[in-house]
Amino acid sequence: MRTGSSRKRPKREERVLHGLGVSEGIAIGTAHLNERGIMEVPDYPVAAAARAAEHGRLDAAVKRSRRQVEKLRAKAATLPDTVAEELGFLLDAHLHMLADSRLIRGAARRISEDGRNAEAAVQAEIAEIAAGFAAVEDSYLAARIQDVREVGDRLVRSLTNRPYQALSHLPPGSVILTEELSPAETALIAPGGDVAGFATVLGGVESHTAIMARSLGLPAVLGVPALMHSGIANGDTVIVDGAAGVVVIAPTAATLADYEEKHAAFLRERQRLNRLRDLPARTRDGVEICLQGNLELPGELESVLAAGAEGIGLLRSEFLYMNREDLPGEEEQYRALAAVVEAMDGKPVTVRTLDVGSEKLLTSLGGRVSEGANPALGLRAIRLSLKEQPLLETQLAAILRASAHGPVRILLPMISTTGEVRAVRRILEKIHRRLRRRKVAPRIEIPPLGVMIEVPGAALTADALARDCDFFAIGTNDLTMYTLAIDRGDDQVAHLYNPLHPAVLRLIQFATEAAHRAGIPVSLCGEMAGDPRCTVLLLGLGIRELSMAAGSIPRVKERVRKMDHLAANRRANMVMDQWDPGRIAALLDDFNALA
Ligand code: PEP
Ligand code: MG
Repeated sequence: MRTGSSRKRPKREERVLHGLGVSEGIAIGTAHLNERGIMEVPDYPVAAAARAAEHGRLDAAVKRSRRQVEKLRAKAATLPDTVAEELGFLLDAHLHMLADSRLIRGAARRISEDGRNAEAAVQAEIAEIAAGFAAVEDSYLAARIQDVREVGDRLVRSLTNRPYQALSHLPPGSVILTEELSPAETALIAPGGDVAGFATVLGGVESHTAIMARSLGLPAVLGVPALMHSGIANGDTVIVDGAAGVVVIAPTAATLADYEEKHAAFLRERQRLNRLRDLPARTRDGVEICLQGNLELPGELESVLAAGAEGIGLLRSEFLYMNREDLPGEEEQYRALAAVVEAMDGKPVTVRTLDVGSEKLLTSLGGRVSEGANPALGLRAIRLSLKEQPLLETQLAAILRASAHGPVRILLPMISTTGEVRAVRRILEKIHRRLRRRKVAPRIEIPPLGVMIEVPGAALTADALARDCDFFAIGTNDLTMYTLAIDRGDDQVAHLYNPLHPAVLRLIQFATEAAHRAGIPVSLCGEMAGDPRCTVLLLGLGIRELSMAAGSIPRVKERVRKMDHLAANRRANMVMDQWDPGRIAALLDDFNALA
């Protein structure tokens, strides 16, 4: 997409920056720097008895902000020396302000003495510090007040946990450049809307932000260290090449022409692949593969249908809880899910129960989700649902009611023991009886109940789990993270994140074989499913159902149609004898090059 800036600005030098290409496509547009200006914050009195808790909120926000700046600090260290030094100096100053500074002390005092809420206390303190600095005419101090404001803004955002709403109405052709986009913020970008693409300083390849970008079909590059200090200004022309992981700031005419040609080639290739839409995903020797779509937001339904998906293999239900302060009720959830089921017109929809925690923190759930030392290992996903049962009951009731509109399956995230599945089944049966009594949906049956295999412990006990559930969905995103102990959202270890590691492959094989022995269906819905390089391996391991971002379906279908499943079996056997991920990748590439 191309929407150049019409504003006159001084000529800038072209700069080429590198990061992780997480969502293919070329965006050529106008830079929108997501600098987070001071927001309107709630201002209310806090009773004496509640002030200790308010101090707790402030302390937690300070800790969270420090963690953010520390991440940026580590990222800055990867830059060339002079920039690293300058940026490091600035971020050190921010860290210092987040320790025992006048800002923090003053805000704490306003909570204790004036009885103000933490957000208002932080803002009042910033205003006072700014007024003091303004009285002295000094350019050094003027720069410092900017730092205080930035730190204060970060603190207020940590306190309110509020996404950057402005993302939902940007000028056409905007390319968002920002420190970090949370999955909830990314969800505010309307598919097919005004945003052409985005780039961030932080974020890993399989973070939910990256997944969301792919689902929305938005070119995106994450983990670009110097992005916000590249001399770029709002309105400058910028290019994001989401396949190559390149961001070009202020491109020359020649670079622009080059990328416009790349963009045109990308669109031509997409058109070619679209012609596969109505052809079956069948191997040359006649094995049918079921290709389904992953759905993060209802807005993606159109592209899932357009891609010829045979169903929704993973509906991530978190969208129902995003960007809001309250929790969605049964009726609202039912309507949203029923609309998806109706739209799929008889094709199956696999609804996953709430999978929050780790990087997916939602305001509507307040402090219920683990933010402890290891959020990825804490109270999240099914653990949270079983602890906060009314949440689960409401969601199950909505799913059961939606199942009256077409075939539905229920999928449980982050299962690690059979006890969890049994506990959910008991609750599901109770809700089913309750709905029948209420005569809301008298004729519905209990849909199949399946589990995500995304924790190594679940994969290794897949035989036992298969006795208690009706199907498996292998989640290689988390399975890779937990097996290799590599945070999927952390760009600093992104180079180590590899689903082709033999340990991950053995767990996939083990779980698939357990499902086959038990006679239950098994699908794979991690990002690996949408990577055509891996199709031969997954088919060769016996997987017949793959669920992926809609945009990946045509290319995977093309791969399926070019291969024999017996040859895929042989290649998978060769792969499973290897222990070196590089050699495994080479074996797959060789096979694909010949197909
Ligand atoms: C996975 O972990 O592979 C998965 C599909 O779930 P999510 O990416 O939503 O964690
Ligand atoms: Mg997962």
